[in-house]
Amino acid sequence: MAAPKVITMLREIGVEVDELTERILGMLERKENISENVVAQKLKLKINEARKLLYKLNSIGLVTYIKQRDPDKKWWYLYYWSLDKNKLRDIYLQYKKAQLTKKKQQLLDEKKYVFECINCQKKFIYEDALENDFSCQECGNILTGTKPTEIILRLETEIANLYEEISRRERSGQRLKTIKENKRKVEDAKEDRKIELKKKRETKKRAEARKEARKNAVAESAKKKFNTSKKKR
Ligand SMILES: [Zn+2]
Repeated sequence: MAAPKVITMLREIGVEVDELTERILGMLERKENISENVVAQKLKLKINEARKLLYKLNSIGLVTYIKQRDPDKKWWYLYYWSLDKNKLRDIYLQYKKAQLTKKKQQLLDEKKYVFECINCQKKFIYEDALENDFSCQECGNILTGTKPTEIILRLETEIANLYEEISRRERSGQRLKTIKENKRKVEDAKEDRKIELKKKRETKKRAEARKEARKNAVAESAKKKFNTSKKKR
């Protein structure tokens, strides 16, 4: 089985995780809100050990949890864990951006050496070449302009790829955000509708109660009238 995506991403960033943590992350990548009982069971750990590993992942922001009171043991909380995929995506994107900055600087550094001596293969920046009348400081040979080296070509490809990847990741991040926002709007509308219906029901109830009260009052006064007329007789 291929390593979970989250592990590949973490390795690339330079975060090493032990085998147990790797298995936990793999589980959380496949499913949200896993109880630590399940994590412990699957990894044959004690619940406390599983919780400790999960807390460690939580402390670096990779996983989140919700806690709920255990219906059987009221003083006990159950924890349900999820991988914070947004956070992971964000960490990875930041890493890619840092890589891009680094590579761009490397490329600038490489491109600084615009002259070289084909005799001793030394390279010179423009200012140094000018100062030495465009001859080699070592052997006096006339300097020639450098051709783009393999390093430069490689860096240029890497930079282009990074630009492409970053913009793709930003676009998909934006898409996810929009989906989430729309979902929230739908939920909000549902909630509003619920409140509206509740209000309507309450108004109706109050109206019915008033009607009932009026009816009772009428009945009551009729009874009184009847009684007084009885007494008069
Ligand atoms: Zn030379």
